[in-house]
Amino acid sequence: MVMSEHNPRVAMFGGTFNPIHIAHLRAAVELRDALSLDAVHMVPAHLPPHRSAPGVSSGDRLRMLKLALADTPGLIADDREIRRDGPSWSLDTLKSLREQYGETARLLMVLGRDAFLKLHEWHEPAALFDYAHILVIGRPESQELQCQVLEDLVESRRVDSVEAMMAAPFGRVLDYDQTTAMAVSATAIRQTLAAGRSVRYLMPSAVEAFISEHGLYGEAAD
Ligand code: ATP
Repeated sequence: MVMSEHNPRVAMFGGTFNPIHIAHLRAAVELRDALSLDAVHMVPAHLPPHRSAPGVSSGDRLRMLKLALADTPGLIADDREIRRDGPSWSLDTLKSLREQYGETARLLMVLGRDAFLKLHEWHEPAALFDYAHILVIGRPESQELQCQVLEDLVESRRVDSVEAMMAAPFGRVLDYDQTTAMAVSATAIRQTLAAGRSVRYLMPSAVEAFISEHGLYGEAAD
């Protein structure tokens, strides 16, 4: 990782990753390149606070993430939420990344639009902006409108360019619609596997092989 003269640029990309798929991976790589990120921390949630527990263990979700990333430069399979006890609050993860990279680092949390639209329901949502920017990526299936509570939370923080976001270490919100749009979801992948159909090309072949070898998601498809 390059941490020389410039302020490090670091993204946290959290999720259930149940399983990791091509839309997560392309977004991470495209953001790394377009925003000159030094590191993209992909952080599987241990106990996702906002949804029912995934049927696959956090250990297996982390293993699939590691297989998917292999040695992709700049992309890190980060197990800090799995190592931590209790619920996986993103606020704690951002605090820990802020401690790791220092106060001038440009730290941003990446959220798909569906996740962003629920931000006001999170644990201490306003406090997130004391540690990171939020960068929202488009998601084809997400058509919902933003509610007023969320608008009140973010409206004074909005910026309209990467440069404006990177001018500060934290606290801004950017709608970023430049990543390749892919209507792929882990839910649809689990359903496809359960129906005995193939998920080839929706994830790296090493992840597909892991799912098949361990009989995850009800069925292993070819
Ligand atoms: P599920 O279908 O189980 O809800 P998912 O495919 O949404 O899973 P998550 O692990 O919940 O995957 O998502 C992690 C992050 O990646 C979230 O911020 C989510 O919005 C984003 N994301 C997932 N799939 C896409 C996609 N196709 N395009 C853009 N962002 C996505």
